[in-house]
Amino acid sequence: MLSGGPGSGKGTQCTKIVNNFGFKHLSAGELLRREIASNSEYGAMILNTIKEGKIVPSEVTVKLIQREMESSDSRRFLIDGFPRTEENRIAFENITGAEPDLVIFFDCPQEEMVKRVLNRNEGRVDDNIVTIKKRLIVFEALNLPVINYYSKRGKLYTVTV
Ligand code: AMP
Repeated sequence: MLSGGPGSGKGTQCTKIVNNFGFKHLSAGELLRREIASNSEYGAMILNTIKEGKIVPSEVTVKLIQREMESSDSRRFLIDGFPRTEENRIAFENITGAEPDLVIFFDCPQEEMVKRVLNRNEGRVDDNIVTIKKRLIVFEALNLPVINYYSKRGKLYTVTV
């Protein structure tokens, strides 16, 4: 699994890891955006949550990840943007019965993350200064307990960006 704030480089580095090591890449944010685009029953709720920079309910996110894992031929997954909270982590363990072998954390200064998100021009509804500030508050508040959990279990690898 790979964790980091908005704009810390998760997506960019995942592409490189996948090209070099052959994992199946699953991005939590990307799966949620795809769900919005497919007009599913949760689409409107997910869109509102993302616009607000908040965390989508864990059960919804984990079910999307689980569906992708079950329908893939691969047995080696790189899950990006997950787990973002302790609730995410616990829901994943309960629903899938699995745990990550390794969690990579991209530790990036806030001003660098803001600069990158504002410059990336991907047309995302949440890449504006108002939503970014909310995303950073959510990230700072909820990420640390998950990082500490994996650190204590010897599964955390921190990359200073
Ligand atoms: P990202 O593409 O990783 O920047 O995520 C964009 C947005 O999707 C986040 O601000 C959240 O609203 C939502 N999101 C992404 N990953 C998760 C997750 N693991 N749990 C809940 N919400 C998520």
